[in-house]
Amino acid sequence: MVQISSLKQRFIQQFGGDGSGISVFQAPGRVNLIGEHTDYNGGAVFPAALTFGTTLLIAPRDDDKLGFASTNFPQSKVVSADVSFEEDDWTNYPKGIVWELAQQGIGLSQGYNFLYHGEIPNGSGLSSSASVEVVTAFALLTLEGQPTDTVQIARWSQHAENEFVGVKCGIMDQFAVANGRKDHAILLDCDTLKYTLVPFRSGEYKIVIGNTNKRRGLVDSKYNERRSECDQAVSDLQTVFPELTLLGQLTPSQFNVNDHLIKNDTVRRRARHVIEEIDRVQQSMVVLSKDDLAAFGVLMNASHDSLRDLYEVTGNELDAMVAAARKVPGVLGSRMTGAGFGGCTVSLVHQDAVERFISEVGSEYESETGLKADFYVCDIGDGVREITGEA
Ligand code: ADP
Ligand code: MG
Repeated sequence: MVQISSLKQRFIQQFGGDGSGISVFQAPGRVNLIGEHTDYNGGAVFPAALTFGTTLLIAPRDDDKLGFASTNFPQSKVVSADVSFEEDDWTNYPKGIVWELAQQGIGLSQGYNFLYHGEIPNGSGLSSSASVEVVTAFALLTLEGQPTDTVQIARWSQHAENEFVGVKCGIMDQFAVANGRKDHAILLDCDTLKYTLVPFRSGEYKIVIGNTNKRRGLVDSKYNERRSECDQAVSDLQTVFPELTLLGQLTPSQFNVNDHLIKNDTVRRRARHVIEEIDRVQQSMVVLSKDDLAAFGVLMNASHDSLRDLYEVTGNELDAMVAAARKVPGVLGSRMTGAGFGGCTVSLVHQDAVERFISEVGSEYESETGLKADFYVCDIGDGVREITGEA
């Protein structure tokens, strides 16, 4: 756990002053338990906030500029509040929030210095970017005396990432980071943004995240390709469903009767994944309401297999890690989480098997791929918040 007092020293080194006037905020990372590549199809997702994430120290400046620094990146800078996008620059994420607030008619009344400290591996599908966005929005709205509606913050943060940073992500990441609750997962309908906090009683089982440490090189182009394949499926299905705008609006039986309308085989398989994955999220709610974690594990496995065979977003590394995980006794289920092509897996592992899991999955994964894995044994934490009295 990060020491706020040492971050305050770092803030003073970076920006000067005596440390008075610093406020501290935290936002978590998130893991999606099931419901992958459903968010931009208007389907349901089931993410949970993690107990680790991004800490932001922020204080007003004497001028109207913005000073940015991060313990995770060497580059720091002071920019005007009239922000602009710069290529290959982490400050686009917080600058995107400043831009978005201005779009919403919330100009800043003063300049601020920002120091970020992230405990989430970047680019691994645990949503470090959403964590940075949401913590920035929550902090600025708080300090500007504006309402901090966490659903609104999620929407604005997604819009900033879409339009300012230029990444066409769905709403899930920002939503989970903004609205998470300790020991609960979030059932979110990405079409209506209606959500339910569902107690996740994992009992003797632990959520274990495995990071493949494989760079997600292909992810942006493949992600956009999948999105346009889903658009193509919708457009083919509109011959029978003229009102259809998103695949998630169809039931599995409506889809099964009409899937022949989708002319291209590949596009049909992509759509089938989306429809069945949304159904798996609904089935998960039923089994979890009975505390049937074993049945939930079966659904997690089916989710991964569909992402591998129908949606084709896994790749050798994720498949190797999941295959190794499923061999360990005491594992109920294992799947990729996030956009895919690298990044992380999530597994439900009996608490007595966690040590064996980490050692056996780590060594089998390394011998299969030549890459070293990292593992995080996780608890479910709270969403974005202000931290007081921890100096
Ligand atoms: P993910 O959200 O899956 O971790 P992304 O590629 O969407 O991966 O976001 C990672 C980017 O977010 C980083 O390259 C960096 O630009 C920014 N970022 C994340 N965490 C921090 C941090 N602690 N400090 C500064 N920038 C960060
Ligand atoms: Mg991201």
